[in-house]
This record gives sequence, C-alpha cells and structure tokens, in this order.
Amino acid sequence: MKTEQFMDALCQWTSEKRTKETLLALMKRPAPSQMGADLRGRYIEETLRQWGTLNHDGVAWHRDWKGTGNGVLQLGDSNAVPIWFLAHWDTIGFMVGPYQEEMGYRLTPFFHHFMTSGQEPGIVFGYSESTGEVGVVTKGTIIGGDPAYFRPKDQDVELVPGMRVAFDCPAEDLGSGFLRGQLDDALGCAAQMLAAGFLADKGGVPALFAFTDEEEGPVATGTTSFSRGSARLIHRLPPPQAAFVSDCHRVGANGQGPQMGDGALACEFASAAKGGVTPPWLWVETMRYMKQYQRWVKLHVNTHGSCSRSDCIRLMEVTPNILLWSAAAPGGRHFHGGANTCSISDVAHLARAMVLAALWARDYPWPE
Ligand SMILES: [Zn+2]
Repeated sequence: MKTEQFMDALCQWTSEKRTKETLLALMKRPAPSQMGADLRGRYIEETLRQWGTLNHDGVAWHRDWKGTGNGVLQLGDSNAVPIWFLAHWDTIGFMVGPYQEEMGYRLTPFFHHFMTSGQEPGIVFGYSESTGEVGVVTKGTIIGGDPAYFRPKDQDVELVPGMRVAFDCPAEDLGSGFLRGQLDDALGCAAQMLAAGFLADKGGVPALFAFTDEEEGPVATGTTSFSRGSARLIHRLPPPQAAFVSDCHRVGANGQGPQMGDGALACEFASAAKGGVTPPWLWVETMRYMKQYQRWVKLHVNTHGSCSRSDCIRLMEVTPNILLWSAAAPGGRHFHGGANTCSISDVAHLARAMVLAALWARDYPWPE
C-alpha cells in the first residue's frame, strides 16, 4: 500500500467519532487498582471483538494475562516483539477501612493522595462470590483530607475490606472536540486500542500492547511502589528493544509551548528524570522519522510541560529505549481541583503516532 493510502486509511480509522466513543466508554468505567481486568478489560475485549481485531491471524488477547492483572494484546506470532506499548488501565482509588461515627469509612489511598479538602462523588466496587466478578456495591461521597473518608448514600450498606472506592466522575462532552472527566489513563488506553485495531487489520507489524494494572501504588520510598503491573510483565516475557509509555502530559503555563489541541506531545524524560529518559539517538531518529508524516500526524515536543513517571520506570530495567509520547490532560492532579480535560483530536494523533512508532521499530536495524 502506498504511503498516502496507508496514512489516509489511518486518519479515517482514527476518526473523531471513533476516538470520542472509545474515550468516553473508558472514562465512564473507573477501575480501581486490581479491578481493571473486570471493569475495563471486558469493555476493551468486547470492542476489539466488534472491530474484528481479534479475528486476525497472529493476534492474541488476554484480559488478565497469566493472572497478572494486566491486559495484553499481542500482534505477531513470536513472543519477542521489537516494541511494547504501555498505558495503565487502573484509575486512582482507595481501600475501605473501619467506620467512624459522624465521619464515615476511613479510606487508605492506593495512590498519591492530593485531595486535602472538598468532596467528590465516589463509587464502591466489590468482588461478588456468586458471579465471580467485580460489581458496584454502592455510591456516596469521598470527603477529602488526611485521612479521607467515604460516606455511602445508602446507610444500610455495610462496607468491608476487599471493597474499593473510586472517584465517580461524570464523563462530559464539552463540545468543540473536548471532553472532561477521569482521563488518567483512559487517554493512553483509548489511543492503544485504536492503534492496535488498525495494525491488526493491516497485519505484518509485530507489537505488544499492555493495559497495565497498579500503575501508581501507595506513597512509598523511592520508586518501589510504582508500576507493579508492568513489573510482572518484564519478569515473564522476553524484553522488547523499545517501549512506548503513554500517560497524561501537563502543558506549559501561560500558553508557553504546545497546548491542548495542538496534537500529540513528546517528552524527553518523565518526572524530572526519576522516570524514563529517552536516549539522545532514539529521540533524534524517531523525531526525524515522524517529520516525514507531519501532514497526517501532529507530534510536538512538549517544551514547557512535563509527564509523570509511570510504567517507564519498570521498562528502564530492561531497555533504555523509552518513548514518552502522549497527549495533554490539564486539570486537577488526582482530583485536587477537579477532573481533567482533553482534546479528542490530540488522542487521535497519539494513536496515529503509535502506529508509526510500531512501523519504525519493526524496520529499525536493532543490534543482535
Ligand atoms: Zn497516569
């Protein structure tokens, strides 16, 4: 297929309509850590099946890969693929503690808890012995602070250990191509679904798409609590030559540098280099490669913004070759100041950038 035809087909596949539907569906499905395979995995599986992605030769999907809590979609027959794509599917949430008169249930955060005041709607999930699945137990209110508390709407429901509380944030279509809601990391997961769907249909491009669990973990010394989901992958699979880790970017203040709506964004390093760092040769080579396709794919260097550490921390243990491309999601950090916003077209450009990165990684002459 000629380049023009290929790129036009890619742009058509990553239409605003399909990108928006995929994003909204994920945003409407909060998934506290260790519940992603049930709460988001089922939707991802159903959608990939509808798209026909799972019918192609050499495509393997595991909703809970080897019981690790991660979703894995592999393109290509061999276990050793040149590039992995990683986006976490779990959303921030709490574990339920004891009930305290007048306050509610004390919560233990399973993430970096910044919500020191205010209230947000919350939703409780629990594992059901009868169905063997995770389902909604009740809804209520998360009271910010240290510690945070949860007050169920229905006072008769008893909350017990093993239940998890997530933010029950509405997924809103703001019009003019923008969405607001829980985008961390619905944004990266949606782009991965779109990219994988396109590549599976075209065939011939080996890649692994991981929807990872337990991205953030509790506050702990150093980075030991980060990305436990992807740690379970790197211990069980041959390492890739490169990894593309996509988590929400922040943009520069006062309109400095590229902003939301300008396209996909590339950071050189994450979390002031505590996370992944892209080697200079890889940065230059991939940027040069992407330039050829700038008519179809907008990718800007996120000069004045930043990205957080995430699965990149783990992948650095097996390869230095990390790409930190994603899209902007300005807004409150972890509901310290409300939900996040994104541009649908930025996410479409991110999906296109993922497809090109997979092609680049397939054709690059990696050393033996
Ligand atoms: Zn994230």
